[in-house]
Amino acid sequence: MELIPAVAAWALSSTCQSMVARDWLGGICPRRIDAEELSLRLSSSARVYLPGSDGFTRATTRWSVLDVPGVKVAAVPGTENDVAEIVRYANKQNVPYIAVSGGHGAITTVGKMQEGIEIWMNQLSNVEISDDGLTAKIGGGALSKSVTDTLWSAGKQTVTGGCECTSILGPGLGGGHGFLQARYGLIGDQFVSMNVVLADGTIQIIDKNSDLWWAMNGAGHNFGIVTSITSKIHDIQHPNWAYESFIFTGDKVEGLYDKINTHLLKNGTQPVDVMNYSFFFNNPDVDPTKPLIIIFIFQEGATAVDATYTASFHDLGPISTEAAEGSYLDLPVWTGNGNESPPCQKAGLKNIRFPIDIESYHIPSQRKAYDLFASATQEIPAFNNSLFLKGGLTYSVQGVQSIPSESTAYPFRGDNLLLAPFITYAPGEPDLDKKAAELGHALRNIIHEGTGRSEMHTYVNYAYGDEAKENWYGHEKWRQEKLLTLKNKYDPRRKFSFYAPIA
Ligand SMILES: Cc1cc2nc3c(=O)[nH]c(=O)nc-3n(C[C@H](O)[C@H](O)[C@H](O)COP(=O)(O)OP(=O)(O)OC[C@H]3O[C@@H](n4cnc5c(N)ncnc54)[C@H](O)[C@@H]3O)c2cc1C
Repeated sequence: MELIPAVAAWALSSTCQSMVARDWLGGICPRRIDAEELSLRLSSSARVYLPGSDGFTRATTRWSVLDVPGVKVAAVPGTENDVAEIVRYANKQNVPYIAVSGGHGAITTVGKMQEGIEIWMNQLSNVEISDDGLTAKIGGGALSKSVTDTLWSAGKQTVTGGCECTSILGPGLGGGHGFLQARYGLIGDQFVSMNVVLADGTIQIIDKNSDLWWAMNGAGHNFGIVTSITSKIHDIQHPNWAYESFIFTGDKVEGLYDKINTHLLKNGTQPVDVMNYSFFFNNPDVDPTKPLIIIFIFQEGATAVDATYTASFHDLGPISTEAAEGSYLDLPVWTGNGNESPPCQKAGLKNIRFPIDIESYHIPSQRKAYDLFASATQEIPAFNNSLFLKGGLTYSVQGVQSIPSESTAYPFRGDNLLLAPFITYAPGEPDLDKKAAELGHALRNIIHEGTGRSEMHTYVNYAYGDEAKENWYGHEKWRQEKLLTLKNKYDPRRKFSFYAPIA
């Protein structure tokens, strides 16, 4: 009697040795990760962590705890080749895997990775400047601050995200916005070549001679694990920066966003040396019933922001103002994105965003969004620390728009502004996930209606996770077809399908 299940088990297990059968049988085939077997394949500097260990906790603690990957083993490659070995091992065992660098990816689709291997890239974080000083080789897991600091000490800089604790590749594979984009383009526009572990476990150099190059700048999370990049770097020309900030009460919504449109943004022509950043936030000490609005105006190469940009905001009657001068290195801290700032803490919160790229502020929509944000954060105190980010950071766009739109998979170079309602809350109360998603969608829909567009543009790196792939990668049919063709060629078994999957 016992033979039957034993025979059946043997038949299943030997069938599951075949990769084709494993793909077809999916969940029926057993998924087994032998941590010891895995470590034997890796270099001596690699680490393999199991649940319960400190290393595992460090590797897997994330910025947002909504829909997180289910990790059975955290593997920390010590060399670029280790990444390939881990991928080959996972493929052999039919186990899913996901690369993690800064752990700030918050799109809900990553939660579809269950019972798999996390490949934590943090040991691959070297930054090495080339002899000619034109490029740097940057490890696939390097974080913004280490890249900025290393380059800065050599008189160089490159485009990174505005947050010290996010990586270069997490943002860069989806385009990647940053303080210097007005001069040099997106993070991904800086890359000149990359070493990539593809879905079949081979390491390949991908550069402009490869058909995959186009996809890696905008949709790169779908095609492989980048173990290192060679990135353009630039001489520091304007080390100084200054900012002035203004806080307004909610009655100034119309006046404020009209002035931002007409005095700063000017339909995508905000000067390359200027940025502005504004958001709605609650501060019960100042006003217990209504959110306040803060706007920062930054200027590069200045010790004080030129009155040309600030005078009209003074005229509008802020309740407080502040000004400071410093250097490029101060920008993340000033904007609340430094390593010690709340957004860099992995504090067990659920953090979700609902991005939308637009051309300019539609004033009635700003009012409607403000009123909804005000009433919702009053009604649901758990959402009180949420923000309505205007422009995330409204970096100027000249460098981004100087690159032909069709030349990369990043689809929204024509937009001037990225808005992102950001709902943050502690897990616990029932229904909060649903209510947070409803609020985020409602706020975004208000902004979308104001654009008059039928299509919605939602920056992939801020996406919530339930958007259509056209919202992430562009509505043009040719873009979707090109991505699918490349996906079928480079990842036919859909191994890289957890971060905003294109298929
Ligand atoms: C506080 C904060 C500030 C932000 N500021 C900006 C900003 O200024 N500009 C901007 O563009 N975005 C910004 N973002 C969004 C950011 O681009 C995404 O959250 C991004 O996913 C973070 O990357 P990470 O490495 O930290 O996260 P992770 O969760 O480690 O990575 C995100 C995803 O990227 C992929 N990935 C990571 N490393 C690799 C690799 N080496 N090879 C292949 N795939 C890899 C994986 O699919 C992973 O799921 C910000 C986010 C936060 C939370």
